[in-house]
Order: sequence, then C-alpha cells, then structure tokens
Amino acid sequence: MKTIGVLDLQGGVAEHLDHFARLGAPARRVKQAADFHDLAGLVIPGGESTCLMRLMRILGTDEAILAAHRGGAKLWGTCAGAILLASRVVGEDPKLGLMDIEIERNAFGSQLDSFACTAVIPCVADEEIPLTFIRAPKILRAGPGVTILHRQAGAIAMAETADVLVTTFHPELTPCLAFHRYFARKCGLQPPEPRAGTDPSWSRASWTRQAPIT
Ligand code: GLN
Repeated sequence: MKTIGVLDLQGGVAEHLDHFARLGAPARRVKQAADFHDLAGLVIPGGESTCLMRLMRILGTDEAILAAHRGGAKLWGTCAGAILLASRVVGEDPKLGLMDIEIERNAFGSQLDSFACTAVIPCVADEEIPLTFIRAPKILRAGPGVTILHRQAGAIAMAETADVLVTTFHPELTPCLAFHRYFARKCGLQPPEPRAGTDPSWSRASWTRQAPIT
C-alpha cells in the first residue's frame, strides 16, 4: 500500500507520524535507501539542516530522496526540510535543490526570536490556524513555476509546485491537522473527512496540548 514516509534522522519525526495517525493517513519512518519503497510522499522534518544533510550523506539518503522524487513521490519540507529542498541558500551551497526558491536560514533572528501566530490560508483550511516558527528561514524569492500559498512578515512561508511543498513553520507542533490533510491529498491519499467541530483541533488555551488518540 502506498504510504507517506517521514525521514527519521533528526528533528520532528514522531510529531509528524502522530499527526498522520490522527488523520488516518498511512505513514512510516524511512531512514536508509532500502526503506524508500512504495512511497506516495515523503516528509523532511524540521530540525537542523546542516545536521540532517550530514546524516543523509553518510546514509545515502540524499540519493534515495532524489530517486523517490523522480519516481513520483511528493515531497514536503518543514523548516529545515524546506532549506534542504531549496535551489538557492543564502551564503551556502544548495543541498537537494528540488524547488526553485531562494531561502535564508535563521532569517527571523535567534532561537529567542521564535514565535507563534495564526493565519487563514484558504487552500488549507477555512478557519484561522496556528503557525509555529522556530529559528525559521525566510523564502526570499520563488521562481515562476512556484505557487506562493502564504506570506508571513513579508517573507514567503508556504509554497508549492506540483510535486514539492515547503513550509518554513512547523505544522506538526500544533494540534491542527489541516496541513497534514493537505499534504496527504497532494499525495493522492484520501484521509477521512474531519468530524464536524473537531478540526482544526486546537485552541489558544491548548496550543501544544493534544487529546490522546481514541
Ligand atoms: N535553523 C534551522 C536551520 O537552519 C532550522 C530550524 C528548524 O527546522 N526549526 O537548519
């Protein structure tokens, strides 16, 4: 069965898997080249892009991701994952280079300048949804083939092509499932429709807290 892989090297792995489980979308960890079979999509989580890239080169995962992309798997990079997917990185060599965007690391400032906010992103959800930026990058420019889905503080924060999605924030760190539903659908999967009133399952009083899976 086609499933969504979550790159299991470093960063927000368990949180992405938890969101797909809550959504009812099949997902599993992938680490080494041998794990990359039957993938409809792959999430490259946030974490630290230099660390992720070093681990990917040691394990040969970078080649496996490029092959999965050629084979039709959709890719979603969150934060550090978006940095790895960018074709240009300010002051550094690009890594996987699979999306025509220019990105600047740590562009909002230091860890202390991390922030949470809410936004309405119509293609993702009708309601206001939470966004968490953690020592986030800014996408400065996007090429003509890239659709910009959201801007935050003057920078592009969410963008996509037919086969690659990037968010400079962390949807896996809030209880909201709307971004994971959006990506699952992009992968051709049909997660069950949300029950009325349960999605997005978050409130300002419980920004990071989630009810147990029932
Ligand atoms: N600052 C990290 C980097 O440049 C990204 C942070 C994140 O993924 N939350 O790799």
